[in-house]
Amino acid sequence: MVEGPRLYNSLTRREEKFVPAHDDDVRFFVCGQTVYDDAHLGHAKSYVNFDVVVRWLRCRGYKVRYIQNITDVDDKIIARAKERGEEPVALARRYEERFLEDMERIGVRKNVDMYPRSHDYIKQIAEQIGLLVKKGYAYSIGQDIYFDVAKFKDYTKLSGMKLEELEKHRIEAKEGKRHAYDFALWKEAKEEEPSWKIAVEENGVEKKFVGRPGWHIEDTAMSVSIFGEQYDLHGGARELIFPHHTNEIAQAEAAYGKRPFVKYWIHSGILSVNGEKMSKSLGNFITIREILKDYSSETLRLFVCSTQYAKDIDYNERAMSEAKKRLAYINSSLSIFYNAKELEEDKESDIGHITEGLWKEFRAAMDGDFNTPLALSSIIRAVEKLRAYAEMKGGVGKLEKEHALSRVLECASVLGLLEDGVYRKSIPKEASALIKERERLRSVKDFGKADAIRTELKAKYNIGIEDSEYGTVWYYV
Ligand SMILES: [Zn+2]
Repeated sequence: MVEGPRLYNSLTRREEKFVPAHDDDVRFFVCGQTVYDDAHLGHAKSYVNFDVVVRWLRCRGYKVRYIQNITDVDDKIIARAKERGEEPVALARRYEERFLEDMERIGVRKNVDMYPRSHDYIKQIAEQIGLLVKKGYAYSIGQDIYFDVAKFKDYTKLSGMKLEELEKHRIEAKEGKRHAYDFALWKEAKEEEPSWKIAVEENGVEKKFVGRPGWHIEDTAMSVSIFGEQYDLHGGARELIFPHHTNEIAQAEAAYGKRPFVKYWIHSGILSVNGEKMSKSLGNFITIREILKDYSSETLRLFVCSTQYAKDIDYNERAMSEAKKRLAYINSSLSIFYNAKELEEDKESDIGHITEGLWKEFRAAMDGDFNTPLALSSIIRAVEKLRAYAEMKGGVGKLEKEHALSRVLECASVLGLLEDGVYRKSIPKEASALIKERERLRSVKDFGKADAIRTELKAKYNIGIEDSEYGTVWYYV
């Protein structure tokens, strides 16, 4: 049993110590992608946020089973397929493949144990709906089946909303619904839409329903069949609290009678673009594919990690340029340390203190509700000290170097940084001398010559430089 980190639980609205139900075995579910279009920057934020959570829990010794669903039966998929004259399944498979490629590129896919698809859980969905109807929590209208919200008294416990408020939200209108806020568990399929036939017993009579599942029931059918009726941790973007997560709780707790369905709920903040909500109509919709043409995946991850997961973040050129500079600073500092001359074991070394300090600060930051900006600062401070030490001593003891590197890399890999090995590349002595000369020229305001050096560095050594809050940072272009 490991001592747990603390996290903000949306369900109890307070920070709590994380204690999974079965010792160090953690079951973690995050709402995944509805595959009808390419994943955008908002998705990148959310999936990187939860990827860091899972990486940190694993680093702390938990055995985490991490699942993200793929919604491949949905109104949006059907509508898009119709627009394009394509089969919904074909469209969904294509976008799923592209989504998984994107997740691979941003370092998320390798940490997800399973991406179950709704298509493969129709039987479990039918069973769960059957249970809800049998227990009187759901009712049918023709070929549709609805959840009877008024029957489940804790319906608003996650959102904290008032039941009357819910009526104001956009809810599908349907003749015969008991309340406006009752939501669909099963929908009658229209012509040419994908459909399945299920049998459900209602009032002692077995009835056949031809249609497709509602969105919310997919997640609980999957998580219950994979994890059981209760599990530890559920994540998703904040806008999913209502209705999606609210409905998940209602379905699972009503069907199985075990509370809480999930012990800890964590929600990621919203990503805006240049201060505006990202939307197709504003034309500021940026896909992960597009962003990776201009920035490395680690730059994107560093940008996301520069804000704590639950906070909102604004994407803009300046923020991305800052992220790029910070990453270059970490890489270039670590490169100097990594490539420093190896000395005999150094008994007077300060390296041990630096790495101990790093681990202490990093752990405190991550244990405090996954505070990645603080964690990132602790890495930056550590590589800065390591570099300064190597420069001052003209080298580093072999063992100290190995130990320090493994600690820095361990911390960085929790954020998904320094995995591309860029720090291993050293900078030629001549290039390093040119950078120093350029700094001198700038200090005497000889910008013309300074710029000529920048051009020379790029042409001769393929090295780009930037002036940052940390001084000059270099990187290979
Ligand atoms: Zn979901």
